[in-house]
Amino acid sequence: MSGESYNNAYSVLENRRLAMRAKYFAKQDEINKKVPMVAEITDEINHLGASYTLAVLGKNKAEADKLRREMDKLDDERTRLLKENGFSKKDLEMEYFCPVCKDTGFINGRTCQCMKEEITRQRQKFLTLLSPAPQADFESFNLDMYPKTAVEISNGTMIVPYTQMKRIYEYCQAYAHNFSTDNKSLLMLGSAGLGKTHLACAIANQVMKDGYTVMYSSSQSLFSKIEQARFTDEDVISDILNCDLFILDDLGAESMTNYSLSVLYNIVNTRMISKKPCIYTSNLTTQAALQKRYGEKISSRLLGTCDTFFFVGNDIRIMKNR
Ligand SMILES: [Zn+2]
Repeated sequence: MSGESYNNAYSVLENRRLAMRAKYFAKQDEINKKVPMVAEITDEINHLGASYTLAVLGKNKAEADKLRREMDKLDDERTRLLKENGFSKKDLEMEYFCPVCKDTGFINGRTCQCMKEEITRQRQKFLTLLSPAPQADFESFNLDMYPKTAVEISNGTMIVPYTQMKRIYEYCQAYAHNFSTDNKSLLMLGSAGLGKTHLACAIANQVMKDGYTVMYSSSQSLFSKIEQARFTDEDVISDILNCDLFILDDLGAESMTNYSLSVLYNIVNTRMISKKPCIYTSNLTTQAALQKRYGEKISSRLLGTCDTFFFVGNDIRIMKNR
């Protein structure tokens, strides 16, 4: 285990530890100021405690019992004083976010569950942070942006963008709200600015809210990271292969090398075999263009396993700027 997510998780735990310590010391100051007797009693108990240990080691049972009783009496007195002044005995103890590892992240040299969970959280954050539309939802998707008059898409085929997009929108909404890991993969094709990323992120946000693990990356940032070898963190690739839903946005915008092509094949193929859903979006609008760019092996898998949707309309971004 290595890399950025691990370091970030470690810092989170360290900050937690520091915050808990600061809270503890502030509380002790408050108690000492208000009830100075408490500190005196604590000193006395610690003092008796040392004698008690000696008595136990010396097998002097009578003496040990006597000291024990004195300590209990002082302890009761201290508890009473604390209570009278609006504190509790627990206020004298250090609190931990995770009592199992005392916020160190490790128990007996093994990684604690709280640390593992934090690493997963960090990894997800790492990828979802790249999302251009972290707030995207279905409510903010405006169907009125799509023309209600028919346009010709290719060799005489006429289509009403609004009708087509309404159908896609409703499909995506149902896909997100009824999400399960048995869902099919989706391939969203169409020119830039037609709302592919918005709908993909709306699905992601809904599915994440329902507790599934979702990873999002634009193809450009994923592959540039892979090329910069910043992504050699095997665990991140394994998260991409294993998360409940993986979204690879804007295929075709990345600069492809043989290495990134092999990583893409690994992602597409492994998730296909394990039947885990993906959402791919691309500005490449024809089968031939996909084939040309990614080769037969990848494009046939994409087209063969995904429900494919063609986004149509005027360029939404241009319309918004009018
Ligand atoms: Zn822990």
